[in-house]
Amino acid sequence: MDENLDNLVICSKCHTVHKKIDLPYKKVAKCAVCGNKLYSDVENAFYKAVSYSVTALILFVVANLYPIIKVYIGSNQSILTIPSMVATLFDENFYVVGSIVLVVIFIAPLSVIFSYLALWVLTYFKIYKNFSKHIISFLMVSRNWAMVDIFGVSILVALVKLFGYAQIQPGVSAYALVLFILVDLIFLKSIKPVELWTYFSRAYDGK
Ligand SMILES: [Zn+2]
Repeated sequence: MDENLDNLVICSKCHTVHKKIDLPYKKVAKCAVCGNKLYSDVENAFYKAVSYSVTALILFVVANLYPIIKVYIGSNQSILTIPSMVATLFDENFYVVGSIVLVVIFIAPLSVIFSYLALWVLTYFKIYKNFSKHIISFLMVSRNWAMVDIFGVSILVALVKLFGYAQIQPGVSAYALVLFILVDLIFLKSIKPVELWTYFSRAYDGK
């Protein structure tokens, strides 16, 4: 078989191999056997990735700069931010939990955001094609480690427990975090690495 592997796509559900064709704008290719979505117009995937990373970066910065909750117990008031919560874990010697939290809410999401931004810059200048390939492989791993949604749910669970004996007020960061999770769920999960790679190789070849 001398077919170039880059021109083939495998269905993630039934594993049927298909030959790839260029799709018109906003069109979707589906598996001929089971109807599963194979890939969509690649330009669309690229713009989705760029808009995702810019929006996510802004929300990420806001979520980390402002207080996530204000807790009032009697006359005492404490203001919690996401970085201060992580720092507390380390202060209390929860090194393993602290390190995991650090990876899933800081390192992994930031790696994903900056990888997309780096790909954007590299494609714009059409440089370091091989390096772009590594970034896409790295993205496939780091994406699985970005678990801000799970972090959000755990905060919610902790808050429900606090409700009994403290007055709680959500801060700006709480809203940014909810928006971040929504953007993450809607955009990030819908960007397929295979579409990105198709876009990038096409962009480089058009040099
Ligand atoms: Zn299929």
